[in-house]
Amino acid sequence: MAWRMLRRKDFHSGLLNLAFRASRGGEKHFSDGAIGKLAQFYRSDRPKHAADCMPSNHFNIRNFHAGVYMLAWSRKKEDIVGLKAPKKEKRVKRENRTQPPVEAPYVAPKPKTATKSPDKTVDIFDGMTLLDLSKRTGAYISTLQGILADLGEKVESEFDSISIDLAELVAMELGVNTRRMHTGEGTNEPRPAVVTVMGHVDHGKTSLLDALRQTSVAAKEAGGITQHIGAFVVEMPSGASITFLDTPGHAAFSAMRARGAAVTDIVVLVVAADDGVMPQTLEAMSHAKSANVPVVVAINKCDKSGADPERVRIQLGSEGLLLEDMGGDVQVVEISAVAKSGLDKLEEALLLQAEMMDLKARIDGPAQAFVVEARVDRGRGPLATAIVKSGTLVSGQHIVVGAEWGRIRSLRDTAGNITESAKPAMPVEIEGLRGLPMAGDDVVVVDSEERARMLSQGRKKKQEKDRLRKIDEGMADELEINEETPERVEMPIIVKADVQGSVQAVTDALRSLNSAQVFVNVVHVGVGPISQHDIDLAQACGAYIVGFNIRTPPIAITQAAARANIKVLLHKVIYHLLEEMGRAIVEKAPGTAETQVSGEAEVLNIFELKGRSKSKGPDIKIAGCRITDGHFSKSGTMRLLRSGDVVFEGPCASLKREKQDAETIEKGTDCGLVIQDCDDFQVGDVIQCLEQVIRKPKFISTQSGSVRIEC
Ligand code: GDP
Repeated sequence: MAWRMLRRKDFHSGLLNLAFRASRGGEKHFSDGAIGKLAQFYRSDRPKHAADCMPSNHFNIRNFHAGVYMLAWSRKKEDIVGLKAPKKEKRVKRENRTQPPVEAPYVAPKPKTATKSPDKTVDIFDGMTLLDLSKRTGAYISTLQGILADLGEKVESEFDSISIDLAELVAMELGVNTRRMHTGEGTNEPRPAVVTVMGHVDHGKTSLLDALRQTSVAAKEAGGITQHIGAFVVEMPSGASITFLDTPGHAAFSAMRARGAAVTDIVVLVVAADDGVMPQTLEAMSHAKSANVPVVVAINKCDKSGADPERVRIQLGSEGLLLEDMGGDVQVVEISAVAKSGLDKLEEALLLQAEMMDLKARIDGPAQAFVVEARVDRGRGPLATAIVKSGTLVSGQHIVVGAEWGRIRSLRDTAGNITESAKPAMPVEIEGLRGLPMAGDDVVVVDSEERARMLSQGRKKKQEKDRLRKIDEGMADELEINEETPERVEMPIIVKADVQGSVQAVTDALRSLNSAQVFVNVVHVGVGPISQHDIDLAQACGAYIVGFNIRTPPIAITQAAARANIKVLLHKVIYHLLEEMGRAIVEKAPGTAETQVSGEAEVLNIFELKGRSKSKGPDIKIAGCRITDGHFSKSGTMRLLRSGDVVFEGPCASLKREKQDAETIEKGTDCGLVIQDCDDFQVGDVIQCLEQVIRKPKFISTQSGSVRIEC
């Protein structure tokens, strides 16, 4: 690019030749950046050592000197490529020729990074032909046959069909993402709805889930004691049932969706009757809308004296939610999670909604399911709660879950009872996995242990490849950012949470706080309480420890953290955690230096100090001013304006109030001001005091509830 510009500018042929030569072969390091450095070198008061500018072995700087430097100065032009100074905003009067030329910072041209090609995702299905796969992936039939042969499968004709697992293995080998399409064949039968509870913080999501859980099958069977496995089922007297996802919150919902796990059929939007529509209510609405999931509104806390459900209805209506009472189709139910009133009505509304949606799924055949939560149990190993989308999951089957695999040792329902199989919309806890999967991972049934192992290995390899590629891209992004903002500090964070789903949601949310000045680096994540290992790691890399929904660490750990000066943040609400982390990030950010007008004064009088001896220097002009706005500091730079034009700018030589030297002078006060090397004051001129301030980034929380750091 630089070379083209060089030609366009009809640059000195010597430079062109040299630069061209340098851009090739052994001098390939002599790139745009090097030219920039050279330009900087000649524009500045040359450093003592040429090596300060560039490696000495690149080429002889002295030879180049004649080309660039002489040309630049002989032409008295600065618009030569790489030497162009940014346009000056103000006219600065130079009083004497002893002053050096105004030095403009060299702005390196932004490197053009290769555009990132978006990831390719192809749909695959059981029984697809080799030709199908070739068309979708864009690979030659012979290439596919080669990969299949390596996998120990011989496929002769392009019209031969292959299994969905083989198709995935081949696609992974080609570096292509896949989306598994499952056949709708088999009898489709009605299935229960899967419901997620969302809403603003403190509006009663957890209380509602607790109240509903107590009416759940598990609570009825286990005498009111339920274990938290990520989902529970409420059975109605009619025999119908509803599956509730147990993790309230939007981050978990969007993290699942981001992984392609669209398990939610209906969203219950909880709005407190005494508080009304709040930012996270709107956020929940937009989440549901973008996921195309219908909403049932639960106006909670109706038992409270300040409750005003009507107001909530009007607010929701004005936000575009077409409520049933207003002629729309969104049902509204008034409830109290604490007084446990209206819960039956809510359940009925959900059943009605599900009925309208005519939810059906294939019952027979291999299951397709999604993980909603995963944890490690000391005695039982990795456990994943999955909700079956279609088919039937059967104990003993070989499965691949995300990048992990295993053979189902046992399936437990939400009451903790061992069950032989799980049908659509039924949450089950899977035991027998080799590793811990993540919330949102898909569960697929495969024929054999070998196939499970191969798929898991392939997926792990692909994940690693993607991870490395992302790091590469991240580094490229970082380079770009570094061009504009030279300083970027790192904020290492360790995330510990109660379950895998929360770990993921918190990590994703924290990464949304990444900014040009602070790089949020989640160095370690884990399920469970904060351990000594976490403290050691945090100490080693100066990390914050974030604990989400975990119990308070024991005294020994707290003390160890305090001794090592490690910040430990414990929260149960993601938004609160982000708020605190946002504040810490803003504090840590280096900020950007900015020139601000701190005050303005009007010149009322001009005094001249004449007849001074030679030894005391030349005559001095003093501007007698009144500060009309802000304040003046002696350390500031003074800008003299006449009829709005800048006439002079320079440091303050003297600032006095009633003949006394002053450091700062406030608005409304008269003062005497001398600007270094300036004797051009006129009555009526305006003087501005400019101060350098460090502007820190801002933590922004938007109306929709999302957060970011703005630099
Ligand atoms: P979440 O942040 O949305 O999960 O809200 P919580 O379920 O933690 O509830 C926040 C607070 O509101 C708690 O102190 C609850 O006891 C209270 N709360 C929740 N539901 C009701 C209700 O129906 N009536 C009353 N009076 N208080 C409630």
